Amino acid sequence: DLEIAMKVVIVGNGSVGKSSMIQRFCKGIFTRDYKKTIGVDFLERIIMVDDQPVRLMLWDTAGQEEFDAITRTYYRGANACVLACSIADKESFLALPKWKNKVCRECGDIPMVLVANKVDLQKESVVDSAELEGMARSLGVPKLIKSSVKDDLNVSTVFNYLAQSYMQS
Ligand code: GDP
Ligand code: MG
Repeated sequence: DLEIAMKVVIVGNGSVGKSSMIQRFCKGIFTRDYKKTIGVDFLERIIMVDDQPVRLMLWDTAGQEEFDAITRTYYRGANACVLACSIADKESFLALPKWKNKVCRECGDIPMVLVANKVDLQKESVVDSAELEGMARSLGVPKLIKSSVKDDLNVSTVFNYLAQSYMQS
């Protein structure tokens, strides 16, 4: 079978765990202070979707989240998107509509998933399930996934879902 390649962008406020999520999925590791390797724009991993190999290229922004000129180049040609926030960071939750709009402006209607990360920090949670579900609904994002990159909870679920959605689109 011919391999299908997919560009996936992970967007959201700084510190929600975007770089960690890419590292976890592509390298299987978690570190407290991840520093982007100079010169590397993305990491990749091949997964199988119904006997079809799919090469996922996961693009990282290296903490340049606030610079529009950089992020627009970064979004270009994306086939799917992770909208990420942290359950321990209210601002990151409230910023989700802004991130979705930025991606839509550049990429149109691509498969998206809302990821609420850091569920291991339940005691520090400032966003509840009802709020997350309400946000997903109001953004028109059909899938909400609660994850912990730290505990390796639901990280592969996120990328399997996006690959499947892309294959069906
Ligand atoms: P980014 O700015 O969105 O790329 O976030 P990073 O991946 O750099 O992560 C920011 C900090 O949050 C780092 O110290 C990570 O180790 C930590 N982190 C990432 N994911 C989790 C998680 O699921 N749980 C906890 N407790 N910490 C996390
Ligand atoms: Mg980062």
